[in-house]
Amino acid sequence: MSDLIEKALQTSTDTKAVLAGEQAIDSVAEVFTATFGQRPAVVVGDERTMAVAGNAVIEALKAGGVEVADPYVFPGDPELYAKYENCELLRDVLRDIDAVPLAVGAGTLNDIVKRASGELDRPYLVVCTAASMDGYTAFGSSIAVDGYKQTLNCPAPAACVADWTVMAAAPQVMTASGYGDLLGKVPAGADWIIADALGAEAIDDYVWGLVQGPLRASLAKPEALAAGDVPATGELAEGLVMSGLAMQAHESSRPASGAEHQFSHLWEMEGHGVDIKPRRLSHGFKVAVGSVAVAALYERFFERDIANLDVDAAVAAYPDAAAMEARSRAAHQPHLVEEVVVQTMAKHLTPEQLRERLELLKSLWPTLLPKLQEQLIPAAELQRMLRAAGAPAHPYDIELTWPEFKATYQRAQMIRKRYTVLDLLLELNLLDELVEELFAPGGFWAEQE
Ligand SMILES: [Zn+2]
Repeated sequence: MSDLIEKALQTSTDTKAVLAGEQAIDSVAEVFTATFGQRPAVVVGDERTMAVAGNAVIEALKAGGVEVADPYVFPGDPELYAKYENCELLRDVLRDIDAVPLAVGAGTLNDIVKRASGELDRPYLVVCTAASMDGYTAFGSSIAVDGYKQTLNCPAPAACVADWTVMAAAPQVMTASGYGDLLGKVPAGADWIIADALGAEAIDDYVWGLVQGPLRASLAKPEALAAGDVPATGELAEGLVMSGLAMQAHESSRPASGAEHQFSHLWEMEGHGVDIKPRRLSHGFKVAVGSVAVAALYERFFERDIANLDVDAAVAAYPDAAAMEARSRAAHQPHLVEEVVVQTMAKHLTPEQLRERLELLKSLWPTLLPKLQEQLIPAAELQRMLRAAGAPAHPYDIELTWPEFKATYQRAQMIRKRYTVLDLLLELNLLDELVEELFAPGGFWAEQE
């Protein structure tokens, strides 16, 4: 799989080097010098990550002849949070230090250093301490501004060091989070197949292969991941790194994100669980539950006779622009509503466009259905895999109430212009009906309340 990383680096826009393997930190000086030449380095970590990796990184840099400034260490208590104030604080510290930042940590630390470095137009290197999400090698930072998570623009790291030994020893909940984030690429792939077939967004075969090629293998050993197995953690880590590089190559998160991420993003944007310890409601944990939710919806969808679809009835039922906007306004919190309306209306169709799309779907269905079925994994199997990895697989696991969870099926569709199965089902006038079925007696979720 490392050949795949080499291949992906040829098309990544920001990341020039990835070193992945057991004891990779021992070689951090080589990667640093190859990427940044003779410039000095400054390590940024928190008390925990300095102990597990940061101090070793400093020693390895010094041994390799790199000039190292005093590290910047965030306090370990309270637990570091990815809020914008921390980006500003770090940016102001780094501005006065003429050195390349090395983030030593997981998602939170990487996001803070990525944004702070970005604001200074300074490239940086990340040393990953947990296989906890796919954001290491992606552009953009997930940062809370005024209490709500947003994706802020900034380049991906210039170099990435993924030390499997360190990552396998991370708290198990972090590996489980990464597993949830990676598992989301299964339904995300199905959404891209639909978007491609219906002319909404074409699949790039090369980028598709970067993510989907190694995906099944990376997801195959959840029990070993839960046990802290180093090679299994390495496979997960590589899958996550590949996902970030694919987003760089595609200059979009489409290769790694579909409706399951819209579930997660909605909960993040609304601040769900910020009062709970962040890791318990990590990004990957929300994606995990979103993935099960979307897979269950697909299964209901596949039972419908789309080849004999009544296109006239679906076109007649589709909300016009005014109704669509009103529906979005009624469903979202005041701080989100204006942006939600922009995103929703960007994918609203005229009756003629809708008719054309549904006729196309009808004609393609006999070949599209088996492709989607081959891509997807049954929702019940996803739950088994997630639980084996120690990840949540049910809305109660992430402290969502039943009504909140159920309403997410409709509300998540509105928050991004990206075309997913949620949009197609809305266009088919099936979204509300299928969601009701999931929660009615005999439905996937009704069985689990
Ligand atoms: Zn993700």
